[in-house]
Amino acid sequence: MHDKKFGFKVLAGIFLGALLGTALLMSSPVGVQPGDVLNAELASGEVIEVKVSASSGDPSGKKPVVPEVTEDESGTGVEFRTPVNLLGAQLSTAPDLLRESSGVSFSSVTVKERGTVTIRPAATEAVNVGGQIFLRLLKMLVVPLIIATVLIGIASLGNIKKLGRLGGMTAAWYLMSMAVAVLVGITLVNLIKPGVGLNFPGADGAIADRTVTDLILKTIPENPIAAIATMDVVGILFFVIVMALAMLKLGKRRVAPVFNFFEGLNDIVYVLVGWVMKLAPIGVGLLIAHTIATQDVAFISVLLQSLLKFALCVTLGLAIQFVLLVIAVAVIGKYNPFEFISKMGPAFATAFGTNSSSATMPVTLQCVTDMKVSRRIGNFVVPVGATLNMDGTALFEAVAVLFFAQAFGVNADFGMQVIIGVTAVVAAIGAAGIPSAGLVTMTLVLSAVGLPTTQMQLLWSIDRPLDMMRTVVNITGDAAVARVVQTLNPDIKPEEDELHELYEEVEPEASRDTPA
Ligand code: ASP
Repeated sequence: MHDKKFGFKVLAGIFLGALLGTALLMSSPVGVQPGDVLNAELASGEVIEVKVSASSGDPSGKKPVVPEVTEDESGTGVEFRTPVNLLGAQLSTAPDLLRESSGVSFSSVTVKERGTVTIRPAATEAVNVGGQIFLRLLKMLVVPLIIATVLIGIASLGNIKKLGRLGGMTAAWYLMSMAVAVLVGITLVNLIKPGVGLNFPGADGAIADRTVTDLILKTIPENPIAAIATMDVVGILFFVIVMALAMLKLGKRRVAPVFNFFEGLNDIVYVLVGWVMKLAPIGVGLLIAHTIATQDVAFISVLLQSLLKFALCVTLGLAIQFVLLVIAVAVIGKYNPFEFISKMGPAFATAFGTNSSSATMPVTLQCVTDMKVSRRIGNFVVPVGATLNMDGTALFEAVAVLFFAQAFGVNADFGMQVIIGVTAVVAAIGAAGIPSAGLVTMTLVLSAVGLPTTQMQLLWSIDRPLDMMRTVVNITGDAAVARVVQTLNPDIKPEEDELHELYEEVEPEASRDTPA
């Protein structure tokens, strides 16, 4: 049930959402919020800073609030004598309200720092509720998604064990290439800093202030059920991974009931993800509408600039990773890099058009076989790679989450960056090879470091071109590893292909009927 028009529908949703948001922003902007810091300009041209206290304010906006003026460093002598209710007030009316209280004339009031938006006009509130429903549905799936996909993903690698050396080698190369991709992404995002200056509010739960010891200890949940209940993603992952390893050790037959249960759960979660994704065009549209409707106009251009820088960061990173993969093909795979690129042409085009590694998989396999890779290697490496190995997605996840850390003003220290890197690889492994899968599993990386998922919709607006490029890099990684594994196993000759039936083929997980 691949919905070919899905990308188009999401784009349409984003476009309509942006229009709706702009209309709301123009007709009924959100006004002053608790926690805002305002710049109030006096008629003389001097500017004073007015903090709208969140605690003294009544979120319903009914009680008067006395604005707190940060020490009158400006020496303007402005003093607010009577209570003035600024909450929810439009910036155009704020100068009059301030004048009534202080007796001093103000020429304009602008937002310097935005507090969390809690007071919205009714129409914007309705849009907010619609968007939040989509977001909550997505979040509802995070825990079952991690448990089922990671557990079944690892536990079904029983086939890898059978393939012995080949399996281990493939897994090692896959992990290594994703680790390099994440490193490239993290380096670029630290250099380009696309999120700095956005000042999103609400990142109180982020883990940057925890010590490395905390981070290490927190990996191991004392109580796995508590980890699940509190959405402690790192703890859940640790438990699920050790459980999957134990299942691998015991073998599928011994743990059949447990395996079947989680396989069933895996299938169910895929169906649920499909349903929620059907709502994506509307959900994302409403989230975008709400984001735009609750900004102040000046902020929108800052936002657009940041998103452009973010896209640049991802594109540059993907290009670097692509070159590194081609170099690996030349140096380790001992294969002409230009021939590699030209032979991969049909796969690149398919990946570009479908945004799906799984849909491209048969083409990739054909291209790889053309590069003198034996079927025995290709038939194993490529399908497993289409599902599990996603260099482009890993890079994207790491860049995106660090972008959000910067945007939320969280100083991501070394420990936090390591967690982001590791969970980005896990999220890429967990992402199905279908359009925008990377955006769905990104909640995992965000939750792992305690960053809010409230601004994720911003990335949907620019995901289509980025997804095209990362899908190309994803399949390039699969083909490169196939070529490298072939060169490292000269004993497996392409002409011995008839032998491949002796080996059990690996069913690619994402080639199931996954709706998207
Ligand atoms: N579309 C990508 C793929 O199929 C997954 C992603 O969203 O990153 O490889």
